[in-house]
Amino acid sequence: MKTIGVLTSGGDAPGMNAAVRSVVRAALKKGMKVYGIRRGYCGLIDGDIVEMDEMSVSGTIHRGGTMLYTARSAEFRTAEGMQTAKENCEKFGLEGIVVIGGDGSFRGAADLSSLGIPCVGLPGTIDNDIACTEYTIGYDTAMNTAMELIDKLQDTSQSHDRCSVVEVMGRGAGFIAVNTAVACGAIEVITKEVPYDLDKIAKKMLECKKNGKQNFIIVVAESIGNASEIAKLIQEKTGIESRATVLGHVQRGGSPTVRDRVVASEMGYYAVELLEQGIGNRVVGIQDNKIVDFDIQEALSMKKPYDLRLHQIAEDIAFF
Ligand code: ATP
Repeated sequence: MKTIGVLTSGGDAPGMNAAVRSVVRAALKKGMKVYGIRRGYCGLIDGDIVEMDEMSVSGTIHRGGTMLYTARSAEFRTAEGMQTAKENCEKFGLEGIVVIGGDGSFRGAADLSSLGIPCVGLPGTIDNDIACTEYTIGYDTAMNTAMELIDKLQDTSQSHDRCSVVEVMGRGAGFIAVNTAVACGAIEVITKEVPYDLDKIAKKMLECKKNGKQNFIIVVAESIGNASEIAKLIQEKTGIESRATVLGHVQRGGSPTVRDRVVASEMGYYAVELLEQGIGNRVVGIQDNKIVDFDIQEALSMKKPYDLRLHQIAEDIAFF
């Protein structure tokens, strides 16, 4: 391949810029031309496609968000939208595309690959909910952001002898929740993967209180939601003042951590190597600390197990 494109799609994640930078620089180094497609598949349909050079990605590795912008495109899911996208690939001479995003973006990449535009997907989402990879770009930064914010809540909860019920992101998965619960010493983590009982949690808190603990953190996964309702019920059941905080989109921003920058750079480089060999319809991932790739359909059919052991550890080493 002599000319490739790169786009970011779906929800943004810290480290996407590092991935784009790596794709652009690796392609240029190999003598390829590389185009940035703005706002994901929307830009592919609208022809919002710009040639990238070394300077285009200069000074971006440490920045959150995505310099290529991102979007969700309903039109891309129609036959007409897909056809326009294909025509624009031909117009700009794009022989392959690196798609940085989540599962939905990979479905689009599989469709484009089947139309003769080989695509390689890079897992870019804070949720770490992509089954074929142990790690997704943005996950570490998001967990660190959540941890820092919960630490701050802990300070104020301590001053007021309160319980903080904190909702963290993660979409349908409890990975961010269970990790931040362990990292912040939460008394309880509530995720959809493990059944929970508010009466039991309340009893545990009252026992802890008898043993001297005055303030509590409960981490709730986005998939459970309803942090306000949980806080209200905990207060009713324990008499301990309880406040809900939803951390929200702040977890999607910020300068990426070392891990996110390095993984994004490695994956971006690997994706270009695949396209250079004319290999498409693949998703890049990490297994046993090694960068690997999978057929997109195979990747989409995989299931990711929840870390039940870490959940158990979170509960067992909480104050009792
Ligand atoms: P995140 O996990 O952050 O939400 P995502 O990539 O899963 O990221 P989606 O909104 O599901 O985000 O998908 C992004 C875009 O991919 C969609 O707007 C659409 O253009 C395209 N897409 C999603 N699903 C499909 C599909 N089944 N077929 C073709 N294209 C799809």
